[in-house]
Amino acid sequence: MNAGLSNIMLFCRRKYQLRLHTKDKRGSALAENIKKSIIIMEKKNNKISNGVNLLYFKILQLLDKIRGFVIKCIVKPERSGEHIDKSKLRKKEDNKMTTDEKKEVKTKIVKRSEDFSRWYLDVIAVADLADHAPVKGCMVIKPYGYAIWENIQKVLDGVLKATGHKNAYFPVFIPESFLKREAEHVEGFSPELAVVTHAGGKKLEENLVVRPTSETIIYSSFAKWIHSWRDLPLLINQWCNVVRWEMRPRFFLRTTEFLWQEGHTAHATHAEAQAEATKMIEVYQRFMEDYLAIPVVMGTKSEAEKFAGALRTLTIEGLMQDKKALQCGTSHDLGQNFAKAFSIKFLDKDGSEQYVWQTSWGVSTRLIGALIMVHGDDNGIIIPPRIAPTHVAIVPIWKNDEEKLRTTEVARKLAAAISNLSVVIDDRDLRPVHRYYEWERKGVPLRVEVGPRDVENSQAVLVRRDTGEKVTVSQNELAARIAEMLENIQQNLYNRAKHFLEENTHDAKTWDEFREIVKHQGGFIRAEWCGSAECEAKIKETTKATVRCIPFKEDEKHGICVHCGKASHYRVFFAPSY
Ligand SMILES: [Zn+2]
Repeated sequence: MNAGLSNIMLFCRRKYQLRLHTKDKRGSALAENIKKSIIIMEKKNNKISNGVNLLYFKILQLLDKIRGFVIKCIVKPERSGEHIDKSKLRKKEDNKMTTDEKKEVKTKIVKRSEDFSRWYLDVIAVADLADHAPVKGCMVIKPYGYAIWENIQKVLDGVLKATGHKNAYFPVFIPESFLKREAEHVEGFSPELAVVTHAGGKKLEENLVVRPTSETIIYSSFAKWIHSWRDLPLLINQWCNVVRWEMRPRFFLRTTEFLWQEGHTAHATHAEAQAEATKMIEVYQRFMEDYLAIPVVMGTKSEAEKFAGALRTLTIEGLMQDKKALQCGTSHDLGQNFAKAFSIKFLDKDGSEQYVWQTSWGVSTRLIGALIMVHGDDNGIIIPPRIAPTHVAIVPIWKNDEEKLRTTEVARKLAAAISNLSVVIDDRDLRPVHRYYEWERKGVPLRVEVGPRDVENSQAVLVRRDTGEKVTVSQNELAARIAEMLENIQQNLYNRAKHFLEENTHDAKTWDEFREIVKHQGGFIRAEWCGSAECEAKIKETTKATVRCIPFKEDEKHGICVHCGKASHYRVFFAPSY
């Protein structure tokens, strides 16, 4: 019976005929009675849309009485005349979608300008990216969301291997004592740790921490693997999940468990480790810009914002459409902190025993959050072609069976011509407009429409997701035009985001200016800063803006701190952030 419920909703909303297939005579008689009751109710409810819920529940009550008799519940459009041309009916439906229906599809997404946070959750829901999990703070990544992550992994994994890193896997359970060996490190994590105290039916002798990051467990292995300068550099990467207990969870941005890659390297000299840390943040920057089409600002974190246990943290920061910054990836110069805590030593060329110098770096499923918030619009998400699970959705359009045959056949031919891309043919028995919206909400970069007239004229209509622009192209040129257009979409998304970032980066010379910008404009604020943690904390307290990064390329000359007026040492990017 449940399978029919959505159909009954339709029945209430629009004038439809209800057909119940029943098992026997008694069922048929009951069904007849119910149909009569429904017609009476419908007549009473002239303004059906207002009475939908009431009517709906009454129908449910009635249907409940014949539970067991109903085999199938079919709903068909009600026809008034003796003979209605099917194709005309279809055309009418396609073109004249009622205002109510349009709303039904559209209102599932709140406008960005109305409520950005709500919009973010709405687009994730309608694009079918993720779902809530039974444990608060965790998320289920649904197939379409996971497909985006797989593409991120594929590209990035290739880059990491090409830069000399090898993948390995380390256990999810870390002895609690390991975390305590590096004091600052454990302090940075302590409230977020999930700890296993019981296993195998008894209390454990030593508690096990579910990995919040793997420095400690990986470096205990490094201590065994590294003996001489010949073992260096050691360049390891791991793709895994990590757990950091999250009090204010948000899909993809902050979840108790998330997926990421963490790189861990050991080097003979500090200079080499520093070069590695810089190289990897630049790898991330290029990946963000070339694949996710997200421009970022890059630089060093302040002492207050750096990774606990690192000498220096490098970061890339993106600007979301609500003008808040999002840290997209970090790379740490760990110095010898962990080497000393885990006794990772090597014999140098001169025979002396030395501690190694280390780095770690990572990006996570948070990148999917960045992608949504940088490119999405009021119709849903937009996925840059180079990372999109589906590049092209082909939608054949028909009014009758014969046309369906012809248009789907052409659709298949076109799909074969672009088999180098990821293509979906959507020939479901849904009205075209519903199919259009679905691919739009899922952010598929290009849609191809093939109607009967297009078949006759050997053409097809291309619709860009980023601009909504429609072009009619000949079927012979389709493959070339699609390739060209996907490149163009990729570039346009980047340019658009770059323009947004530049438009929303402001210089503040005085504290008044600073506060005005935070209050009325938002975005990145470039300003002089003395470098004091106390000053930074006060700025955060009054404006919520934090030091996002100290750019690598520094001006030589500095003025005075925008907040305290003391001599400045840095010109930094401030912003409120996620
Ligand atoms: Zn200051």
